[in-house]
Formats: sequence, structure tokens, C-alpha cells
Amino acid sequence: MSNLEDLYREIILDHYRSPRNRGELASPPAIRVEGFNPLCGDEIVLYLDVNDGVVTDLKMTGHGCSISQASASLMGAAVKGQTVEKARATILTFKQLMTDHESTLEHDGEPAKVDLRSIGELAALQGVVKFPVRIKCAMLAWNTLSQGIDELP
Ligand code: ZN
Repeated sequence: MSNLEDLYREIILDHYRSPRNRGELASPPAIRVEGFNPLCGDEIVLYLDVNDGVVTDLKMTGHGCSISQASASLMGAAVKGQTVEKARATILTFKQLMTDHESTLEHDGEPAKVDLRSIGELAALQGVVKFPVRIKCAMLAWNTLSQGIDELP
């Protein structure tokens, strides 16, 4: 597993150092939502452009720990271009990932709730589940996205 853990660490560091989709969108028309994780001080401001049921553009600003920032970047990369319906499903999958202590690529017997091979780079955050304090950091961007989608007309 060590090669895989190295790969996951690389992905998280890459998204932390070179966050994707940084910036702002004119709001309106973009939906602007703020998220805050008081436990760690992580902050995010998320802008969503949704047209005909598709997340056509997405940008974010904010700051915080490496996990919160990497998770936000990974979230944006995963969700941009998805339909709102698919984005909701992706949020759900990520929540499951953060509560699924059994998720592994190789496991015997019980099937994992989340198939890591189906979620691309998001799998890199799977290790966070071992550190309960960091789960809120990883979830921040996703909860903020969820809030934004709920505000859609
Ligand atoms: Zn944090």
C-alpha cells in the first residue's frame, strides 16, 4: 500500500500547492456561498454558475489547512461540468468516503461502500477518515457546495 499512499499524498500536495479553480465569478448570476470550519479556521467562498442543470463554471477563494484546501480543489475539479444531479451524487459519494472506514482498493469479504476506482483523484482523501478531526476540514468545501446547490432556484 505504500506506493498508493505516496500517490495519494502527491495528489493532495499538488492540489494544495496549485489549487484549481481559484478566483471569483460575478454574483449574480453566480451563486455565492460561504463556508467556515471553526474547529480549524478553514474558510471557503464558493461561486457556482449553473445553466440548464449543469455546473458550467465554479470558482473559489478562501484559506485554511492543507486538507481543507486540497479537498476544495479536488471538489471543484470533480464537480465542474457535472450536472447538478450528478454533483449531488458526487457529494453523497464523498460523504460516504468520509464515513467509510473499510474503503480500500483490495478488500476481502464485505464490499466497500465506495469503489475507490470510480472516483478518480478524490480517492486521495480517503486516508483522512483515519483522522476524525480532519474530516470536517475535508468536508467543508463539499458542505458549502451542497448549500449552494440547495439555493438553486
Ligand atoms: Zn482544516
